[in-house]
Amino acid sequence: MAEPGPISVADHLARILDSIEPLGVYDQSLLDAVGLPIAEDVTAPMPLPPFDNSAMDGYAVAFHDVADAAEDHHIHLPVVGEIGAGQSRLVALSPGTAVKIMTGAPVPHGADAVVPYEWTDRGVAHVEISRAPQLGQHVRRAGEDVEKGEVLVSEGTVLGPRHVGLLAAVGRSSVKARPRPRVVVLSTGSELREPGDALAPDSIYDSNSYMLAAAVRAAGGIPYRVGSVPDDAAGFTEALHDQLVRADLVVTSGGVSEGDYDVVKEALRDTGTMWFGKVAMQPGKPQGFGFIGDDEVPILTLPGNPVSSYISFQVFVLPALRRLQGRTPYERPTRTARLTHGFSSPEGREQFVRADYDASVVTPVGGHGSHLLGDLATANALINVPADVTSLTPGDSVQVLLLDEDF
Ligand code: AMP
Ligand code: MG
Repeated sequence: MAEPGPISVADHLARILDSIEPLGVYDQSLLDAVGLPIAEDVTAPMPLPPFDNSAMDGYAVAFHDVADAAEDHHIHLPVVGEIGAGQSRLVALSPGTAVKIMTGAPVPHGADAVVPYEWTDRGVAHVEISRAPQLGQHVRRAGEDVEKGEVLVSEGTVLGPRHVGLLAAVGRSSVKARPRPRVVVLSTGSELREPGDALAPDSIYDSNSYMLAAAVRAAGGIPYRVGSVPDDAAGFTEALHDQLVRADLVVTSGGVSEGDYDVVKEALRDTGTMWFGKVAMQPGKPQGFGFIGDDEVPILTLPGNPVSSYISFQVFVLPALRRLQGRTPYERPTRTARLTHGFSSPEGREQFVRADYDASVVTPVGGHGSHLLGDLATANALINVPADVTSLTPGDSVQVLLLDEDF
């Protein structure tokens, strides 16, 4: 049978996004929802401030009683009571009197200004006022900050400390949000050892499971890093199925190319929903996607070369994770930049070139090899070259993905 031709990056991504559903929405306590995109428009159930209150420690007065106060014309008023924050026994102020009031305390009916201590003799039974406030001065009006019914935080907003403060201020203790996706990260390869353990002459450290788990966390997911399993189909299948109970998504690395020990392909080939094939991209050509287990957990099987693995994460896993979170846009946005150095690009394969981006100018960094982790770590961007572009020259305008950008 003829080898099926490669599928485009856009088509592969589209089928991933089309077949993954966002996770269910739950009421989450405010602090648990920090960092999550919320799944409702939150409207104000009450105004802020909820009632007229004092902005200063001083005396609540009727403005017309003190309008003439001045350094050379002190005004005397009897002090008929005192209101601290959280104390509202006194409901109305009679004309010609003053009430001592503390910051945040409700301003009594009949009072329409607060004279701060500093403009008075701080009297207890009587107060002497040496300066006139303006009408309404030092009174925080009910609703001046937030009106009842106003949208406070709109759906999709990733909740941060300031949103949490606002929601608590209007009395919300929880908010509807999707949970963080739980992502099982499993790497394959009999050559892999755990960092911290001893290396044999033919072994290398498992860097992918750490890198992918870190990328999951940066994307708002909860990584479960299983570590590496050897190239043995039965062992891989067992490790995988042990993990499914805690997975909203599984990401594997390695074992999907054309080698003799391509364990992921071998183990999952006969799973009805799995697709394995080539995507017209460089790096990252061999890919796999499907659903496994009774719960049909989505699985993306990435190639094992570290750079291929990382770029596959950025191009396919990150959008899938954001889709699970209901977080748009799914794909990392591209930006236009000017290229400092030219290079050639293979016909028919979309390229993702490691690069250094600064202020709309971009420079390719390092070599082409998919094993070059040192170069990857110094890059902060990927230049995305379309499949039909074969040569780029200095000064060309290109599209770049900024790897550390929040979006
Ligand atoms: P594979 O896709 O399994 O054929 O692996 C391709 C290359 O990537 C080989 O050189 C592997 O040794 C290397 N590799 C695979 N998995 C990892 C990993 N988890 N960490 C570091 N290198 C890996
Ligand atoms: Mg391998």
